[in-house]
Amino acid sequence: MSKPALPFLPFALPDIGEEEIAEVVDTLRNGWITTGPKARRFELDFAEFLGDTSLQCIAVNSATAGLHLALEALGIGPGDEVITTTHTFTSTAEVVRYLGADVRLVDIDPATLNIDPRAVEAAITPRTKAIMPVHYAGLAADMKTIHAIARRHRLQVVEDAAHALPTTSQGRLVGTLPSAATVFSFYANKTITTAEGGMLVTGDADLARRARVMRLHGMNRDAFDRFTATVPSWYYEIVAPGFKYNLTDIAAALGLHQLRRARAFAEQRAAIAARFDQAFADLPLLLPPKAPPGDLHPWHLYVIRLADNAPIGRDAFIEALFQQGIGCSVHYIPLHLHPYWRDRYALSPTQFPHSQRAFERMVSLPLYTRMGETEVERVIQAVRQVLQA
Ligand SMILES: *Cc1c(COP(=O)(O)O)cnc(C)c1O
Repeated sequence: MSKPALPFLPFALPDIGEEEIAEVVDTLRNGWITTGPKARRFELDFAEFLGDTSLQCIAVNSATAGLHLALEALGIGPGDEVITTTHTFTSTAEVVRYLGADVRLVDIDPATLNIDPRAVEAAITPRTKAIMPVHYAGLAADMKTIHAIARRHRLQVVEDAAHALPTTSQGRLVGTLPSAATVFSFYANKTITTAEGGMLVTGDADLARRARVMRLHGMNRDAFDRFTATVPSWYYEIVAPGFKYNLTDIAAALGLHQLRRARAFAEQRAAIAARFDQAFADLPLLLPPKAPPGDLHPWHLYVIRLADNAPIGRDAFIEALFQQGIGCSVHYIPLHLHPYWRDRYALSPTQFPHSQRAFERMVSLPLYTRMGETEVERVIQAVRQVLQA
């Protein structure tokens, strides 16, 4: 194997600035390192970012935790079914199993790679309680149709918005749509990062109250505060077997500044995506789907699909780029191919033809704000070279 001549260009890198670093150092010096004033500030800033301060934002230590809390607060449990896309990360579905409920995986729309609302409707049974759309790569799922289906069948909607900050659907920011809850991720490679972290957003006061209690061991101080004028600071009550899902102030310190940069980040990534689109237009590729005119797409992922007449297969394409020192990835190995999901629900690829076909031909290229002109050009030249071979 030949060694790459240039430094390796990783698939993803976080963009941490001096303000984030100073805020983390301030947190370390001031002594309050776990959940405290910065986590609270981050929640309030997040509601402001979404443009609706009546929303409740609940900071958690991962999107997975946020999805779990949302479904728990909705009372999802054994005997219930939740419908989601097979073309996602396992988090979206695993939280349903945490609660003893069952997952109904459905296929995607091959044009958008998002959950197909017709497949959702076809999968509804008397046991169905909720639908979990994922805004794949940052492109909004068809929320108008999904909300209409949910209303018709009296189902809850919990959006996995791990890729979707900031995304709009028909002009409205994801997070402000009429879903029971929306959950964002701040994992290291997401559109903004706190290393690990997430935000549960809801307009439902009861859901918010339950999620806040369950986020920290099932501790209920708020209720006690309300009817006791002088609550001793050491006193608390446990009202449920809760979880340990709180976000630290060290992580929130990163989030405060990342959030301020979220729109600029999205614009920078959109500019790179536009460069790629133009540079790849004549190649045997299916380029990523675009947002409708006027809607925001934060370009968390840039996913190409090799056309039937491409001179190379998906695996060889990734290997060829690696040989040129460029890291790629695949989003996702669909859930129906993973042993756990496949065996538990006796799934086969023929049930998900669009996800399966997309998976077999898809590659996620590096696209992030720390890529400069040189790195963007390197990716373009490598892709062109491999596909013209
Ligand atoms: C990253 C991701 C998650 C999980 O986010 P964490 O913050 O790592 O828990 C969930 N769903 C999708 C689609 C993701 O990409």
